[in-house]
Amino acid sequence: MKKLIRNFLLVFIVFLLVAGIFSSLSGGDTKVKTVGIEALINQINSDSVSKIVVSGDKINVTLKDNQEESVLKEPSESLSTLLSNFKVEPAKLAAIKISVQEVSGWDYWLANIIPIVLPFLLIGAFLFFMLRGVQGANSRAMSFGQSIDKDFKPDEKNRATFKDVAGAKEAKEELQEIVEFLKFPKKFHELGAKIPRGVLLLGAPGTGKTLLARSVAGEAQVPFFHMSGSEFVEMFVGVGASRVRSLFEKAKKNAPCILFIDEIDAVGRRRGSGLGGSHDEREQTLNQILVEMDGFEPTQNIIVIAATNRPDVLDPALLRPGRFDRRVMIDLPDLKDREAILAVHSQKKPLAKDTDLKIIAARTAGFSGADLANILNEAAILAARNNRKEIKNEDLFEAIEKVMIGPERKGRVITDKEKKITAYHEAGHALVAHFLPDADPVHKVSIIARGSAGGYTLKVPSEDRHLHAKSEFISEIAVLLAGHLVEKTVYGEVTTGATSDLRRATALARSLVTDYGMSDHLGPRTYGEREEMIFLGREIHEQRDYSEKVAERIDEEISSFIKQGEAKAAGIIEKEKRQLEKIVAVLLEKETIEKDEFEAIVGPKPLL
Ligand code: ADP
Ligand code: MG
Ligand code: ZN
Repeated sequence: MKKLIRNFLLVFIVFLLVAGIFSSLSGGDTKVKTVGIEALINQINSDSVSKIVVSGDKINVTLKDNQEESVLKEPSESLSTLLSNFKVEPAKLAAIKISVQEVSGWDYWLANIIPIVLPFLLIGAFLFFMLRGVQGANSRAMSFGQSIDKDFKPDEKNRATFKDVAGAKEAKEELQEIVEFLKFPKKFHELGAKIPRGVLLLGAPGTGKTLLARSVAGEAQVPFFHMSGSEFVEMFVGVGASRVRSLFEKAKKNAPCILFIDEIDAVGRRRGSGLGGSHDEREQTLNQILVEMDGFEPTQNIIVIAATNRPDVLDPALLRPGRFDRRVMIDLPDLKDREAILAVHSQKKPLAKDTDLKIIAARTAGFSGADLANILNEAAILAARNNRKEIKNEDLFEAIEKVMIGPERKGRVITDKEKKITAYHEAGHALVAHFLPDADPVHKVSIIARGSAGGYTLKVPSEDRHLHAKSEFISEIAVLLAGHLVEKTVYGEVTTGATSDLRRATALARSLVTDYGMSDHLGPRTYGEREEMIFLGREIHEQRDYSEKVAERIDEEISSFIKQGEAKAAGIIEKEKRQLEKIVAVLLEKETIEKDEFEAIVGPKPLL
């Protein structure tokens, strides 16, 4: 709409300009008096005319006293016939210089053509501008299906090798085999071995799936075709399938190569469980992928690598032998791998001598490779902001918290009362976490607002663990509820600050019952089928596979687990009241307590 108005204005201004030029050209005539033909005859007969110039249908007359005038005649009639018709004395006429001037093309145009043509030109221009806008959008839409062919070029940027991937030892070993296939296919063909067609990389977001796929191509030195699942599904029906076709075609021409489909869950979801229109499109795209993969000759050295963080939603047809039958799990990095990843990403960053990546790795349990890369980047930014040439330990620590919880918000104004409530709340979390042997040790307590939290207590597991017992979960619930509980015992009422704690505690308790089978009453089974459905853009996760009666008992069990946690926390808060007051006092004074200082206040953590 804006464009339309602009175009209109443009046309309007052009119109004004043309009109201006036009009127100034014709305006020259106004100085010359126009007289009738009879007046001219009289002037000739009375000898007062010195010169006559005929120009088209105009007769320009110069009088003896140098005055000028003009007379209009019919274009078809010549001057001589005209004058003879009016009976001018020939002798008088002979004394006058008469000449005929060509009408210049320019004059002719301006005078005759433009007034007729100009309106059409203006309307034409207006329509042209208007239509051009519409057509632009249209032609872009129409060329969708074809233009994608051009897009599929081997990805030459971001070349990577296994050296760029730290840790992930097992995954790299598995993928090394793929590299061999691509490098020496003959070796395998001669033995009659079939080269796998598809490899599925499974792992949490940021664990380096994309990076690994790239590095396989880099190691084998073959072209890398990259496409994201969501790119297949577009505005127009049928585009997905046609994109798949042209992608595979390109890959076949460039074999041996790697064809990487990122986020394949966007197209490869289990078929037939969805509602709504977008589903058909996805299904067609998925079918096309399956058809293309089945159509490979075993000697066509193309390996399709796909990545997803939602293996549970994938269509079983994708996982069948001959398709993505090789699966490579990529776990979140453990302590050693985290240190290695930090080392890889700090290669080009000047670290101060006192920095110890081991400590950073120890503090970042559960972080993905992408998180760790982000931490180093944030730390570098912090160092630069403080005009330092090196990254110090404190930058790294600050970066961890920033990535974990959000940026510090020192500027937030809080009243003394709010500050005190926050101090009690956080001290509660810290106290219970410290005195429960199976809870993670406290690394930091702070009442400086960060992200959306008013204060925070940082607990870090002392080791990477994969199995958790029920009692640990109850302790976790106890720690989560501790803030709320302290507020209640000290102030007699609670604030809104505990909302997210309560939500997390409830979610955890629900998992204990429905996912982990940890409820003695409901027995060792799961409740609720996790099925993906997309309805009106919302994912509906759970489908009930139990009765209304069981639902009530689940609710009861959730409440019971929460009560157990609450009792555990209350016991500690009651017993260690004096320690609580000590923590609060230090928090109010210093706002932040680090691990060593914390243990100096409350004593060493009791062991299991
Ligand atoms: P995913 O595809 O699994 O979501 P990416 O491959 O996009 O994750 O990883 C994002 C970034 O995280 C990478 O570009 C890299 O910088 C970093 N990263 C992740 N894992 C590793 C790793 N094992 N070694 C080095 N860097 C890693
Ligand atoms: Mg990725
Ligand atoms: Zn809290």
